[in-house]
Amino acid sequence: MDVTVPEIPARYDGYRAELRRFIVDHKPTLGWKQRSGLRVPEEEADVDALREWVRSLYDAGYRLAQFLLEEVDEHEQRILEQELGATGLPFVLGNPLVAGALKAFGTPEQQARHLPPMARGDHIWTQLFSEPNAGSDLASLQTRAELDGDVYVVHGQKVWSTWAQWADYGYLLARTEPVPGPKGITAFILDMHAAGVDVRPLREMTGTTDFNEVFLDGVRVPVSDVIGARGEGWKVANVSLMTERTNVGGGSTGDIAAALVGVARAHRRRGRPAIDDDSVRQAIGAFSARSRIQRALGYRVATKAAKGAADMWDAPVTKIWFSELNLEVAEFALALQGARGALVEGDPDAVDDGAWQDRFLYARAWTIAGGSNEIMRNLIAERGLGLPKERRGDIS
Ligand SMILES: Cc1cc2nc3c(=O)[nH]c(=O)nc-3n(C[C@H](O)[C@H](O)[C@H](O)COP(=O)(O)OP(=O)(O)OC[C@H]3O[C@@H](n4cnc5c(N)ncnc54)[C@H](O)[C@@H]3O)c2cc1C
Repeated sequence: MDVTVPEIPARYDGYRAELRRFIVDHKPTLGWKQRSGLRVPEEEADVDALREWVRSLYDAGYRLAQFLLEEVDEHEQRILEQELGATGLPFVLGNPLVAGALKAFGTPEQQARHLPPMARGDHIWTQLFSEPNAGSDLASLQTRAELDGDVYVVHGQKVWSTWAQWADYGYLLARTEPVPGPKGITAFILDMHAAGVDVRPLREMTGTTDFNEVFLDGVRVPVSDVIGARGEGWKVANVSLMTERTNVGGGSTGDIAAALVGVARAHRRRGRPAIDDDSVRQAIGAFSARSRIQRALGYRVATKAAKGAADMWDAPVTKIWFSELNLEVAEFALALQGARGALVEGDPDAVDDGAWQDRFLYARAWTIAGGSNEIMRNLIAERGLGLPKERRGDIS
């Protein structure tokens, strides 16, 4: 499998230039976290502005492959992701991992009803998998859905549901069969505006509200909103989890060398510019090399996944590599900044408007999202390398 990242041919320069012009003309200005890493908006006005932004992209033909059933031009897609990523603004609203599940397991009616509005920002989605006692051990989830005529009635609690406070739909896992473990789980489309859905936002140490608790009290879900077959939710969910790990692993650490050189030039160490310190230069070189490996790994896993040739340990390896590199880079940059590194967006003395501080605080999240790195290492060891399985259950 080719692991080099192919060059984008020069004939795509016009596409890139046109897209850049479009971005300049349509990119919204938001009231919150415009500069230091917006993930989930805090204000309704910002949600509306983001919906308008995503809608304008979609209507102009700038559409992301993850929502499309048809083939797309791979170079245009890469340019789209690069240029939109560089805006620092969300260009996918909510947590749309359900798109992959709908493409693989949804009925044509479900695909037609949900994929275009999801792509256009008209429908925002959240993912309702994790529960207070079921995160790493997701198969032990307790939310239940009981069949009552042509609806399921859902009771339970979810947590860490990103974007749920703004969501129109939820990608829900619930237990429909009276058996423990993965066999009893079914995947559903849940209308987040239905009676019995109660969303309670959680404030994180970043100062933002990315996550929510979601309480489900007798929520009625039509049988037609089951994704795939009843009792096959685990199979459906695993497609999404693989995609999530691939996405996290494909996350960009950006031009690390340029960014860190900038910080090292602007700060002093032992009375001299930090960039003059050999150990600083060596560290930046090492980060830069690891970031190139990350780029190649991300490209490799995405290419293999697109060809249906991914091995189950590809996404975990990439996810671990990205998330640990990203964390170390953030810690290093803050160490260079000294006390100023503690300042956040809005403070006139904050370095790069608090972007590094936000990155530092959020970096640990990527070591957990989509399955913690400990669990990823278990997967690689047990299923990738065939090492003996760890002991599970009560070991007291
Ligand atoms: C940024 C982010 C976004 C998220 N978005 C969503 C979302 O939209 N929807 C959703 O449903 N969930 C979401 N989650 C939740 C995420 O899936 C869980 O946090 C994750 O699966 C871990 O579960 P937990 O938090 O319950 O931790 P636990 O499972 O309680 O784990 C606690 C610690 O124990 C370790 N551990 C557990 N079991 C083992 C083991 N067998 N071997 C070794 N170590 C172990 C873990 O690695 C971890 O360090 C999100 C999380 C993050 C960080």
